[in-house]
Amino acid sequence: MIDKKTASFVQALCMGQIEEEVVLPYPEMKQAEKETLEQVIASVNQLLGGRAKDFREWDARGEMPAAFIEELKSFGLFGLVIPEEHGGLGFGSAAYSRALQEIAKHDGSVALTVGAHSSIGMRGLLLFGSDAQKKRYLPRLATGELIAAFCLTEPGSGSDAASIRTTAVKQGDHWLLNGDKLWITNGGFAEFFTVFAKTPDIQKNGKAQLTAFIVTRDLPGVSVGPHEDKMGIRASSTTTVHFEDVKVPDENVLGEVGMGFKTAMRILNAGRTGLGGGCVGGMKRLIALATKQAKERKQFGKSISEFGLVKQKIGEMVVDCYATEAVVGLVAGLVDQGYQDYAVEAAISKVFGTEALWHSSDEALQIAGGNGYMREFPYERVLRDSRINRIFEGTNEILRLFIALTAMNDVAVQLKDVQQSLRAVLADPIKGFGVLSDYALRVAAIRAPQQLGERFGEKLTWKQLHPALQQTAEHFEEATRELAWVSDRVLRRHGRHIIDKQFALKRIADILIDLFDGSLKKKGEEQAARELEILRVFARRARGRIRGNLRRVDVNDDELVKRLADDAFEREAYGWDLI
Ligand SMILES: Cc1cc2nc3c(=O)[nH]c(=O)nc-3n(C[C@H](O)[C@H](O)[C@H](O)COP(=O)(O)OP(=O)(O)OC[C@H]3O[C@@H](n4cnc5c(N)ncnc54)[C@H](O)[C@@H]3O)c2cc1C
Repeated sequence: MIDKKTASFVQALCMGQIEEEVVLPYPEMKQAEKETLEQVIASVNQLLGGRAKDFREWDARGEMPAAFIEELKSFGLFGLVIPEEHGGLGFGSAAYSRALQEIAKHDGSVALTVGAHSSIGMRGLLLFGSDAQKKRYLPRLATGELIAAFCLTEPGSGSDAASIRTTAVKQGDHWLLNGDKLWITNGGFAEFFTVFAKTPDIQKNGKAQLTAFIVTRDLPGVSVGPHEDKMGIRASSTTTVHFEDVKVPDENVLGEVGMGFKTAMRILNAGRTGLGGGCVGGMKRLIALATKQAKERKQFGKSISEFGLVKQKIGEMVVDCYATEAVVGLVAGLVDQGYQDYAVEAAISKVFGTEALWHSSDEALQIAGGNGYMREFPYERVLRDSRINRIFEGTNEILRLFIALTAMNDVAVQLKDVQQSLRAVLADPIKGFGVLSDYALRVAAIRAPQQLGERFGEKLTWKQLHPALQQTAEHFEEATRELAWVSDRVLRRHGRHIIDKQFALKRIADILIDLFDGSLKKKGEEQAARELEILRVFARRARGRIRGNLRRVDVNDDELVKRLADDAFEREAYGWDLI
């Protein structure tokens, strides 16, 4: 029986185990939710369909009109994830992600406006709010009377979120909030802010801990700056938000005092399927645009869709879109089924989806050729819009480090046990052998499956996969076995210094990303033949990448590359002009 509190498919992979029950059967949405979702999809298309000209104009102007935001409110789009008892639609993660997908098919800025509100702006209230807080704010958040924003980033604090300088000091029945937040989505019109501040009175190991607060726009001392002039998602609102001696009532503390960092991370994890859904919507739109464009455009006496290199791009876009939709749907399914430890899987879906969308935007623009470069066509805007996804809600670099380190955590814990067991073995070999941990035996079994594999081998094979995927399954099992060796080896080699071995961590993260994506199939046992082909193409490519990454764990140019970088840092220039 799987323990939904602790089970993580990806963490188990590093231990050489395939926890099949976590990912199969592929999660299904409940019928009632599906029906409501269909209505939402229809109304999204009714509201946003045929407005391409507006979206282009708002992008050029760098703002969407207030009247349009009122329309979004009247269509109920700010209440997607708010429970029905508080006036929302009560969507779970999968339905929410699918709704955002539909919005993103039309426009990235609109998807971000809705997504920043639901995914992160008021997610903390849903996850950690008290009943009184929920009663007070959720009904107005559902109608859009209050639009929400998430305020973590500051001028001196981006990826290093724990280094924020905004402070909240307890004074009687309120907290005095002071500080400046940067690049806050929806900042221009939000009335409800989830704000993270350092609370100097709450210390751990001599360090002030963070606390999350609900801050409303009407509190004296709250102000916002002008709209930022951005590269993409230009019509969405991004501003600074300032807090000057804001008296935040004690009842507005969100979650536990001193637990703000964890609160922020939980919010970001829970919100990732929204961003993932947006990426899928973007890719589906690009496939529709690029296939039409390629069929219409004639060169060398033929439609360019007949050329192999154009087909290759479209084929890859289809595979990437399928893999992203599958992985985002699976993570959403984990959330909806009550799994609690899905942070690594959610991070994988973010990294994979945002990079797949970026690649697809670039390829779609390339297929459109010079037209792709012109503002008259949508490609350059989609490319600009999609670029931000790799930066916000955790940069993909930080998330890769997080994926590898968190996924290997169980191995690290076991290694400590193994070392202790080994000491016991050496002290008293006969008695000691009995205490050699399961982990040590499993690693031995993975290395010599013929001798010891029977006892542990059952954890290393897929049992429910479609027979047509047999070979793919074998490759997956082989890669999992190798991943377990590599995790073990890398951790033994670097010990606690692993945290600084970013080249190695990136390789392990990339292997995990490929494996997790490769473990999926969207539609249960009865696969359409085309879907099996997509899976096979993905799996073959993933296998090539995984083998490359495994090889380079031991044989690589990391030190050379670092030296080249250090040299460039010293010169602050390129140093190898030919003439
Ligand atoms: C349009 C837009 C909207 C945004 N919306 C919001 C919002 O609503 N709320 C909010 O709080 N924030 C928001 N942000 C901020 C966003 O989350 C941050 O930009 C992001 O977290 C990265 O921080 P940074 O820009 O300071 O980059 P930095 O942290 O300075 O990173 C710069 C580069 O260094 C890399 N790097 C940093 N540390 C490491 C490391 N340890 N190892 C390896 N590489 C590293 C990063 O990956 C990145 O490539 C928004 C930003 C933008 C541009």
